Amino acid sequence: MTVRRILFLMSDTGGGHRSAAEAITAALARQYPNRYAVTLLDVFKRAALFPLNYAPETYLPFTTYFEWLWGLGFHILNNRVATRLVSPYLYVSIVPRLRALLREAQPDLVVSTHPIFVALGYSALRQIGSRVPFVTVVTDLFDAHCFWFDPRVDLCIVPTEGAYRVAQRFGMPKEKLRVVGQPVALQFADSRITQRDARHKLGLDLERTTVLLVGGGEGMGPLYDIARAIDAACLPIQLVVIAGRNKKLRERLNATQWHIPVHIQGFVTNMPEWMRASNVIITKAGPGTICEALTCGLPILLSGYLPGQETGNVTFVEQSGVGVLQRTPDAIVRTLREWLAPDNDILARYAARARELARPRAALDIATILHNLLEER
Ligand code: UDP
Repeated sequence: MTVRRILFLMSDTGGGHRSAAEAITAALARQYPNRYAVTLLDVFKRAALFPLNYAPETYLPFTTYFEWLWGLGFHILNNRVATRLVSPYLYVSIVPRLRALLREAQPDLVVSTHPIFVALGYSALRQIGSRVPFVTVVTDLFDAHCFWFDPRVDLCIVPTEGAYRVAQRFGMPKEKLRVVGQPVALQFADSRITQRDARHKLGLDLERTTVLLVGGGEGMGPLYDIARAIDAACLPIQLVVIAGRNKKLRERLNATQWHIPVHIQGFVTNMPEWMRASNVIITKAGPGTICEALTCGLPILLSGYLPGQETGNVTFVEQSGVGVLQRTPDAIVRTLREWLAPDNDILARYAARARELARPRAALDIATILHNLLEER
């Protein structure tokens, strides 16, 4: 049996693009063992010219200090005229080296889990003479940017009906669209990992209500202030703070004296265990984290969102009845206190609704779609 090569175009701008690619990779290995050799290519890092090759490193400072500019940029560029204006710059910065990398990799299928690499990736692939299929896996739930949608691709897989409508608005033909769900790692749905087992494994108190505080792969947002406010309120909980790749935040958290049990982590590779161990998650409105939390049946307290692609996620969480947005540490503490009150059944309601909304099979379904696409050829 020939092993076929699948190349994912992604980048560590945040954690979601890699998580999606890894979830599909694991699902392919589960469903079709030894049939696929998968490579993840961080296109900004490996193919782009300066300064775009620093995009993964500058994503956190940029989105933190210039959040408003990010939102403005998202809206200004979210139409075909504006993207046509910036495309030549992106093209010159990325495509020549990407072509060389594609030639070297000789993939049988290319999948982009990053909006910037859809049109560029497709063009580069065809320019080297390859006719292999190109698939887009959209990782934004609602306000997906028009960069995601190029009608030339063979298939475009979207996570929600909302993203499907956006895709159509940007000219994606219906027959190339599939609504499948956000691919999340299979372990998030593994009900054999009980809350107690996860707490035991992670060295947490087995009985204490556990609140998980995260800010995407980069540890974005005012996580330190939120942790301090929760600590000062002396709620009867244990707090887990996952700082992701944000080293400064981690150091600051480690240098602080806490009054409640606080567990501080950097970038973890076992997020399913941390979520399974928890009762509530506090997070920015990252699509990956939201869908993982739904799969684990976790009520979601949103602490913020990146204007632009994450705005619609807030509406989704609030309107679906799985959580609320509170933008200040004080409001977050007030909400937590309310949710944790002994006679309040809101957490149970949110948790049940989260499980209803989850699409834990999305990664497996996408693996099947990719496999069938290759078999058809
Ligand atoms: N993540 C992780 N380890 C960490 C922090 C985050 O694996 O220490 C993962 C998280 O589980 C999710 C992704 O990073 O899959 C974050 O994606 P999301 O879309 O929520 O936000 P982004 O970081 O892309 O802005």
